[in-house]
Amino acid sequence: MKLLFDLHTHTTESGHAYCTLMENINCGKQQGLLAYGVSEHAPAMPGTVSEMYFINFKVIPKEIDGIRILCGVEANIIDYDGNIDCSELICSKVDYMIASMHSHCIPYGTVEENTRALIGAMENPIIKIIGHPDDSRYPIDYDQVVQAAVRTDTILELNNSSLHPLSARKNGLENIKLLISKCVEYGAKMIVNSDAHFCFDVGTFDAMEALLEEMNVPEGLIINTDISGLDYVLIKR
Ligand SMILES: [Zn+2]
Ligand SMILES: [Zn+2]
Repeated sequence: MKLLFDLHTHTTESGHAYCTLMENINCGKQQGLLAYGVSEHAPAMPGTVSEMYFINFKVIPKEIDGIRILCGVEANIIDYDGNIDCSELICSKVDYMIASMHSHCIPYGTVEENTRALIGAMENPIIKIIGHPDDSRYPIDYDQVVQAAVRTDTILELNNSSLHPLSARKNGLENIKLLISKCVEYGAKMIVNSDAHFCFDVGTFDAMEALLEEMNVPEGLIINTDISGLDYVLIKR
């Protein structure tokens, strides 16, 4: 399985990642990516960029060294109704939006609360990717979340960083296996992302690729196996 784009990455701008945009792009090119997306955390995350960062995306070339460059955001879900921390101005500037739950931005909820939060976010038409729904600190009902993803045309993320032994997320492997099996059962589409916080991880999906192979997942359910898969997540204006 060849994965052609990586839309979940962070740079030094995040305050807790360690490479620049150009370092990330260069590493992405070396990995053979056709498109690279930068997705800095939205303003509720301590240490991240301000609104001004998103306003000036226009200066970033649409293509660098043969790779298509996409400018996104990783929004923070800030309540159990699924509201996020992005102003209309930010929403108007980004090419795509991931929404995720983070410990600095929302307390760990119950299964009912977390599930409601993710479904509420998926009902927001601008949100097309749910980031790392694989963390036992935020337990969810996988049947309900995956069924809502199908209904709302939202893509669920398979986050390669969640499989890392040092990941802060809990039970990543077990949860991702359950997530994949439910996506296959209900026909929900998935995206594989690195969630790189260092350039060497951009476009690096080894652990997830091995798992997808082991579970015999049909390529058609993974949107980054075809460059046209970007159409599922880019905001149409
Ligand atoms: Zn995240
Ligand atoms: Zn992230």
